[in-house]
Amino acid sequence: MKSPILEFIQSLHARYLAVDEGRVADYIPELSKANPKAFGICVATRDGHLYEAGDTRQGFTIQSISKAFTYGLALEDRGEDHVLSRIGVEPSGEAFNAISLQEGSGKPFNPMINAGAIATCGQVLRKDGASRFDRIAEYLSRCAGQSLSIDEAVYRSESATGHRNRAIGWMLRNFNILDEDPDEILEAYFQQCSLRVTCTDLAVMGATLANQGINPISGERAIAPEFVDNVLGVMATCGMYDWSGEWIYRVGLPAKSGVGGGILAVLPGQLGIGVFSPPLDGQGNSVRGIKVCMDLARDLSLHLFNPSAVPQTALRLSYTGNQMMSRRRRPAMDFHYLKRFGERTRVLELQGPLIFSTFEPVVRTLVRHAPYCQQVVMNFRHVVNVDPVSMRLLAEVRSRLESNGIRLLCCHAQRFRRPLLAAGIPAGAIFDTDDEALEDCETFLLAGAAEVAGRSPDAVPLSECDLLSSLSPDELAIMEAAAETRAFAPRQSVIESGGDADEWFVLTAGTVEVSLPETGNRRRRLDVLSAGMSFGEMAFIDGSKRSADVIATEPSTCRVWSRAWFDSLDQSHPALKIHLLHQLSRQLSARLRQANLEISTLKS
Ligand code: GLN
Repeated sequence: MKSPILEFIQSLHARYLAVDEGRVADYIPELSKANPKAFGICVATRDGHLYEAGDTRQGFTIQSISKAFTYGLALEDRGEDHVLSRIGVEPSGEAFNAISLQEGSGKPFNPMINAGAIATCGQVLRKDGASRFDRIAEYLSRCAGQSLSIDEAVYRSESATGHRNRAIGWMLRNFNILDEDPDEILEAYFQQCSLRVTCTDLAVMGATLANQGINPISGERAIAPEFVDNVLGVMATCGMYDWSGEWIYRVGLPAKSGVGGGILAVLPGQLGIGVFSPPLDGQGNSVRGIKVCMDLARDLSLHLFNPSAVPQTALRLSYTGNQMMSRRRRPAMDFHYLKRFGERTRVLELQGPLIFSTFEPVVRTLVRHAPYCQQVVMNFRHVVNVDPVSMRLLAEVRSRLESNGIRLLCCHAQRFRRPLLAAGIPAGAIFDTDDEALEDCETFLLAGAAEVAGRSPDAVPLSECDLLSSLSPDELAIMEAAAETRAFAPRQSVIESGGDADEWFVLTAGTVEVSLPETGNRRRRLDVLSAGMSFGEMAFIDGSKRSADVIATEPSTCRVWSRAWFDSLDQSHPALKIHLLHQLSRQLSARLRQANLEISTLKS
């Protein structure tokens, strides 16, 4: 099946193929040889997918588009303050090659006009035997994800005729914006402008800027993350020369054009666009390039200031610990206690990226619920990433909850372990699964409950076990007499999945876990049963095989009845059998009710 997105890009290409406005740059003689009909469009997504139409693999010189990247390198080499002291960030409102410097200081208005770009080149350091140009070429190549080489003919042509740029270089030297004579710097500048790229390269370089400086195809860090916004900032205000205001108004994307016919545009966080078409308008911007970007921005709603792109709340679901309980099955008394007081546990399921505007509604919800809570669980299962601001807010929330005596637990959060620990969440409060976090909350609630505090959970007489507690003493005696007693050591198997289900167990001491093997050594926990609870009886009703393993997690004791004995009750003690079946169906209906509640909670 053909992608409708690819079809859209191709239709855009077809729409403007016949346009023959504009003129190929000829002030650098070699550039005048460019084919005016060449035309390519490429969109690179933040995860490195390319949509291409037309001449996307044809080489041309990058020209001024290089300026944005060299600016990033200069910032990395010298730091923001130093670079800002030499080169401004104000739109000049003048042509790209204007010999305009700020009055008095001689500072170029911005790094996107030639004066600023030459000054920027002078800021790049020579390092470890690598020349300025070597370092620039290497930096741009990392952004493109492949080694870029010079178009020697264009370079020689530009160097031979670059008198105006030389004049600018000497002006910069005069004002001490350049610390050394400009000859070598100018050559490096001419060379950087003569690097050959394709339309695809431009889109990938744009996607690298969109992706916080990491090339989405190679996965390599190409631009230091702290300078990505600086680079995009000057592109947005100055990237299209004296058409920059119109551009940001109409297209709304940081962009940079070059007289070779390229335009690179970026939708931060989302995608990079490369367009190539040599004929230029009066400002030196590609005519078709502008038309394509205007249509792309309008038709795909890419304008940076378009509110349709506003992120949504990170709060996916909010419920309490009695609406959703852990898989741990507990004796009826504990269960009823948890049904009553589970409200004191608040679970917030989060989703998407956590940034200020998505996390703010979560904080608001927490502030509202805090007075009624004893503990809060944040579920990170559907969170894709966390930014430093949201982690700072989380740290604040945590310490405020703590001073109000409220516990904060996180689950499905191993991926974010490091930032969570830094936000002050103790390692013991970070759980692999929501089930474990909920179980911990329940255990915590029960530990604080006066009703259950005095009772030893270690050994429960049959008369107090859930299914048997309403039997008469005579009936209990019959049960006692028929039961086998079995003891299990920790990690010993009680039931194996797949086996015949011909026994019914009541756990009178210890704890067992019901689980299924997962990949590796991991097991998926389905249930945890504590003393007083029964298991295995379901299969007595529907005759199925054992569907999971049951393993003792501590020294445990079970009382066991055989199916043959259970069946024989029909004849020997029908009243007892009816009683047991009645108890069984009561228990099943209580569990079904809880399951229904949990399903509706998750669906809400
Ligand atoms: N190398 C070209 C110059 O300095 C770059 C100009 C441009 O692309 N706008 O004139």
